[in-house]
Amino acid sequence: MNVEYSENPEIVSKYLKDESSALLGYAERVYFPKSSPEISEVLKEAANAGVKITASGAGSSVTGARVPRCGGWVLSMEKFRRVSTDSLGGSYAELKGRNASIGISTDARRALVPPGLSLLEISEMLAPLGLVYPPDPTESSAMLGGTAATNASGARTYKYGPTRNWIAGAEIIIPGGEILHLHRKRECINGRRILVPEIGIDTEFPASYPCLDIKNAAGLYLRENMDLIDLFVGCEGILGIFGEIEIKLLAAPKNIFTCVFFFQEADASLDFVDRLIDGTAGVQPLCIEFFDGKSLDFMRSAHPSIPSRQSAALLLEIEYDRPSQHNPYPYPLEIERLAKTAGMSGSSRNWAAVGRDVLKMKAFRHSLPESVNSYVKTRAGKLGTDMAVPRKSFRQFFKACSAAEDCGVKTVCFGHIGNSHLHLNFLPENKEELEKAKAKYLDLAELAVSLGGTISAEHGVGKKTVRSRSGETIPYLELMLGKENMQAIRNIKSAFDPACILNPGNMIC
Ligand SMILES: Cc1cc2nc3c(=O)[nH]c(=O)nc-3n(C[C@H](O)[C@H](O)[C@H](O)COP(=O)(O)OP(=O)(O)OC[C@H]3O[C@@H](n4cnc5c(N)ncnc54)[C@H](O)[C@@H]3O)c2cc1C
Repeated sequence: MNVEYSENPEIVSKYLKDESSALLGYAERVYFPKSSPEISEVLKEAANAGVKITASGAGSSVTGARVPRCGGWVLSMEKFRRVSTDSLGGSYAELKGRNASIGISTDARRALVPPGLSLLEISEMLAPLGLVYPPDPTESSAMLGGTAATNASGARTYKYGPTRNWIAGAEIIIPGGEILHLHRKRECINGRRILVPEIGIDTEFPASYPCLDIKNAAGLYLRENMDLIDLFVGCEGILGIFGEIEIKLLAAPKNIFTCVFFFQEADASLDFVDRLIDGTAGVQPLCIEFFDGKSLDFMRSAHPSIPSRQSAALLLEIEYDRPSQHNPYPYPLEIERLAKTAGMSGSSRNWAAVGRDVLKMKAFRHSLPESVNSYVKTRAGKLGTDMAVPRKSFRQFFKACSAAEDCGVKTVCFGHIGNSHLHLNFLPENKEELEKAKAKYLDLAELAVSLGGTISAEHGVGKKTVRSRSGETIPYLELMLGKENMQAIRNIKSAFDPACILNPGNMIC
């Protein structure tokens, strides 16, 4: 086999953990394929030798998903940075970047991108063409392949939806080494039957398997008559490896107006969210982001102008047309209507920015995870939720999150409230508090599920486990799916990967 690899312990050690920091894996070697045929070679060799494989993107997963817990080989995507000339054909023009290349379709609506490019690199290559790839998870070092495998989301998912909505096709290399070339609407699942004759797959999922109509990244995506490619998006790498990916593009938004509204009562901020979603405020934001009063207290050292004694803030990004070339602001009537609706909902203070000042608002938003992370460094770590519920149940779930500190552990709560999706971070001081936080976390996960919600809206479940009420350690996903639907995932996994060599430990443990 001619694929580059390393067994140098110093190099291998870089691939043994991810941003979850909770797990440390082990591996014999790391492969660096530069193309889908090279990935195929490694998978064939691994299948022959009975060696486990863990795919690696940028390692920004917060769930242990890219940690090689069962040893074997790591398959790093970092050198797969050029699109092959064969794939470009006549429909794509090659666009070169720093040690990288992608294909841009002749109508500029699609791009063919290798899995090892980061989202930041993709956006830098597209910017001069006035194009964007809309998915925007906060961590822009994440690689396209990693974001496809986790169906990553971000703040602007409110307007644009998750990664799944922006994937038009992909090369998928399955554990036997076969390369599938998947395109939407060409390969569909027939009812609940997954039939891929060229590789001998014929399996089915049960009608009981939940398919949620909210933001969700927990478990396999399974719904009747879906496109086959959707089985792989968000599968956390347990069914196949993403090679080149065909993504959909948009014309870049011309002008973005960012504003932050402060509220003395948290419930008032929820009223404003309702008015934004039902259209009363007269704008269609790209994102609606929430910060509770304790988050604002954390951010105040970096941003002293945050008004005091506020219980909540909402940050909105709004795309707008300029009234004229010389006027950088939105139409005054639009702003007035927005401010009036915020005022009606109880907000008396706000900030607004256009042009370069928008970057200051970005810095404001990013200062929260940074200050929380530096706070927890000297304590017992952080335990963060990633749950979302249907909109009709959101106030009930919000109330439970707001009262979570009653368990005796400090919290901060923020997140993508436009999608009824919050990150409640427990900040325990010591091991005893960590145990209390874990018990409350379990309560909240069960509540989210009972309300028809998800235990993970965007991070995925990776290798997370949880201690159930009966004291048994179970895969985190089982809390939401139950044993029968976990078995449905195991059945599909063994159809594609009978020897269970690919990304062992993810999702089904
Ligand atoms: C500060 C911070 C903020 C974050 N914010 C968000 C957010 O807003 N939204 C969000 O959704 N996530 C967020 N994340 C989580 C993380 O960034 C995403 O899950 C991201 O999609 C992971 O991409 P990666 O390239 O780092 O993948 P990795 O972490 O390397 O891998 C993630 C999973 O994908 C698999 N994988 C990687 N490449 C491939 C491939 N080519 N084929 C098949 N499987 C593959 C890995 O085996 C692993 O299971 C955040 C993380 C951090 C640290």
